[in-house]
Formats: sequence, C-alpha cells, structure tokens
Amino acid sequence: MRVFKDVNLANYHTFGVSVQSAWFAEVSRLTDLLTLLRSGVHPTLVLGEGSNVLFTRDFPGLVIKNAMSGKSLMPDPTDPHRVVVEVASGENWHAFVRWTLEQNLGGLENLSLIPGTTGAAPVQNIGAYGVELADVLQELEVLELHTGKLLRLKAADCGFGYRTSRFKGEWKDQFLITRLFFALSSQQHQLHTAYGDIESHLGGIPPEQRTPQQVSEAVMAIRRSKLPDPAQLGNAGSFFKNPETDRDTRDALLKKYPDLVSFPLRENRFKVPAAWLLDKAGWKGKSIGRVACHTSQPLVIVNTGGASGLEILDFAVTVAADIREKFGFRLEPEVNIFPPGAWPEGD
Ligand code: FAD
Ligand code: NAP
Repeated sequence: MRVFKDVNLANYHTFGVSVQSAWFAEVSRLTDLLTLLRSGVHPTLVLGEGSNVLFTRDFPGLVIKNAMSGKSLMPDPTDPHRVVVEVASGENWHAFVRWTLEQNLGGLENLSLIPGTTGAAPVQNIGAYGVELADVLQELEVLELHTGKLLRLKAADCGFGYRTSRFKGEWKDQFLITRLFFALSSQQHQLHTAYGDIESHLGGIPPEQRTPQQVSEAVMAIRRSKLPDPAQLGNAGSFFKNPETDRDTRDALLKKYPDLVSFPLRENRFKVPAAWLLDKAGWKGKSIGRVACHTSQPLVIVNTGGASGLEILDFAVTVAADIREKFGFRLEPEVNIFPPGAWPEGD
C-alpha cells in the first residue's frame, strides 16, 4: 500500500470536480487499513467510486479509497431455497449484481446498473424500481474507525429507510463497511415488474416465464436510455430525495395542478417525485453557467464541463429555493456533500 500526498480527486468521483486531498491511499487489505488508521491522520473519508459525493472544497485529511475484493456463496442453513452471498465492500455493485444473476440467484435484479461499490450501498440503502437493499441484505461487517474493531451488525439494526440509514445519520463517518451478507433466492422468486417501464420492456413474455436476468436486462435498457453516463457528463445521480407530504397538501396541489404525480406511502402520506416538481418549474434542461438539470431526468444535476463544487452547490441551492417558493416543498439533498455543513440550514 502506498500513501500519497496532495492528490487531485477529480478522477475519483463522478462529478469530476477538481479538489485536493491532503493524503490519499487505496486499500485492498484489512491489515493495510488498520496500519493506516494507526497513523493517526485525521479526518478520514472513506470513498468507494465517488458516485454519490459532492466536494465543495479541498479535503484536509486522509481519503481512503476502498478496493477490497472477493465474493463467495454458501447454502443458507435456515432455508433450502436461499443462498447466503458474502461480498467484500470494494467490489463494483453492478458487476456483483450480474455475478449473482449468473449464479441463478434472484433478488438484486431491479438494482442493476446502479454505480458504485457494494460497501456504499447500505449508506443510503440504495433503491430503484420498487426494490431497496434492505429487502435482501442480512448482515454487515464494519470496522469502527476510531477503535479499529471489527463488528458484525444485523441489517435490522442499521436504521434503513427511504435512501437513508444510520450510516448517513448518527453513525456518519464512524464505520468503514468491510463485508456484506445477502440472502438470495435460488428458486423461482417474486419478481417486481410493476414499476416504471419494466413491463413494457419485458414485451410479451408471459409472467410465469420471466426470469431475474430478463428483469435486469430491462432495467439496464431503461437506465441507459434515460440517465447520463458520468463518464461523459459529470453527475451523482438524483441530487435530491423525493419529498413526502400529507393528503391535504397533496389534494390542494392536485386542485392547482391536475397533472400532479404522487404515490401513496403509508397512513395518508404521499411521495411526490422531485423530478415532476423540477420539470413543472421549468428546470428540465435548464443551466446556469456550467451546471444544469439533465435534459431527460431533471433530478440529475450535471457538470456540463469544468464546474467547481461550489458552482454545483449554488445551482442546487437555487433550484431548491425555487421549488420551495413555487410548491412549498423543502428539497433535501440525497448526495453526500463535503464538508457536511455546506448545505444551508433551512433550505
Ligand atoms: P461514494 O460516492 O464513494 O460514497 C458515498 C458515501 O458513502 C460517502 O459518504 C462515503 O464516505 C460513504 N462510503 C462509501 N463507501 C463506504 C464504506 N465501505 N463504508 C462506509 N461508508 C462508505 N442510488 C440509488 O440508491 N439508486 C439509484 O438508482 C442510483 N442511480 C444512480 C445513477 C447514477 C448515474 C449515479 C451517478 C448515481 C446513482 N445513485 C443511485 C447513487 C450512487 O450510485 C449510490 O449511492 C452508490 O451506492 C454510491 O456508491 P459509491 O461507491 O460511489 O459511494
Ligand atoms: P421514474 O421511473 O421516471 O419515476 C419517477 C419517480 O416516480 C421516481 O422517483 C419514483 O420514486 C417514482 N415512481 C415511479 N413509479 C412508481 C411506483 N410504481 N410506485 C412508487 N413510486 C414510483 O424514475 P427514474 O428517474 O427513471 O428512476 C427509476 C428508478 O431508478 C427509481 O426508483 C429511482 O429512484 C432510481 N434512480 C435513482 C437514482 C439515484 O441517484 N438515487 C438515479 C437514477 C434512478 P423512487 O425514486 O422513490 O423510486
């Protein structure tokens, strides 16, 4: 393992903004990680593939780029129809999903083509097309950064919610997730195809003949047709979470905007797609300087070339303020913004 001084992070995160890290190390072995932690450099930031971060200034400490690899499977002693799959946290998420499908294991197909590492997936409980990580994740192994202790956590203890977990809240930057353990189906399992355009992409395949692999292919085709490739256009996926509201507010908005899109959640709560709000407010494809809302999915804020982290942050703040003024919703960033207090309180 080599530790580097003054490294430009532009190639290590998908917004591609140019910021310096005081120290930088790529770690593929747990022993190296422990050595690094003993060096006492602070603060530390764990980076996977940088597909959900926005740096608004240089990082004054040590960036640990996670490159731990390896995966294996074993029968689930409690259920003959399931297999326990273990994966190291530096593996690429999509490659891992495709590998599980090659083993004829179902459960992760709707989460195909989400960028990033497996180890970052629990941080925001990644989700897409009606499925989220928490549906299939059983346990995690984590390294407590200030003690160097390895701990085993049950998924149920991680506070998983809509695009969130305790790793994004009270446990932020305290643990490095080292391994994940999934329970996946080795038999026919319930496919989730009702979301978005999956059904139309499956064409005329009768429900009883559909496979997890076909659902994965459909999801990949939809995503490729609509989402910008970060290698071509810097972005970190959806910049904001979808806001939630109550029935009365939703009904009042529906009177004003009969084409309002909303989805029922629980007990009179509704989700309003942030993308709909941005589109209605005229942000789709709109740019300010070198930052824009993407032309097909306005929720994805893009770096159109050479923007700084602060320019991207300013753009996002402007967009959020406009949505608040027009619809009353307070948009909350989904992207992890560095430094943590950079998003203005109350916006
Ligand atoms: P990073 O961006 O490197 O890190 C994200 C956060 O996790 C940081 O706070 C970091 O410190 C922390 N972290 C990283 N690794 C670890 C670890 N091992 N232990 C502890 N903390 C860690 N997200 C979805 O949920 N659904 C989607 O459909 C989706 N689509 C996307 C599409 C595009 C085009 C892009 C660019 C992003 C999309 N995302 C989506 C967001 C992103 O892919 C996920 O959040 C992903 O899990 C981030 O992985 P990463 O390795 O790049 O994490
Ligand atoms: P979409 O299918 O056009 O849908 C727009 C929004 O409506 C989504 O935000 C989705 O909410 C919601 N939605 C659609 N159908 C729904 C249903 N049947 N029930 C409940 N909610 C429904 O969205 P898209 O941009 O193409 O993305 C497709 C999927 O990939 C979504 O799940 C999205 O979250 C995920 N995605 C995530 C990111 C990211 O960075 N987080 C980036 C790209 C795509 P949800 O977002 O809550 O699912």
